[in-house]
Amino acid sequence: MVFEWISYFDCGACGTVERADAVGYDSLGYPECPGCGARTGPLVGAGATETGTEALD
Ligand SMILES: [Zn+2]
Repeated sequence: MVFEWISYFDCGACGTVERADAVGYDSLGYPECPGCGARTGPLVGAGATETGTEALD
């Protein structure tokens, strides 16, 4: 049995699913969708605002 550490990039903008190692990353380390070019940060879909960590209270 082989366990592969493969993660997948799931674009929230266009729905593209790609292997994470096939996806490019920007200077901040966020994955860039190869299909539509959208960047996906950890807060995308959870209130994509600029408030950042202050929302953790
Ligand atoms: Zn996309």
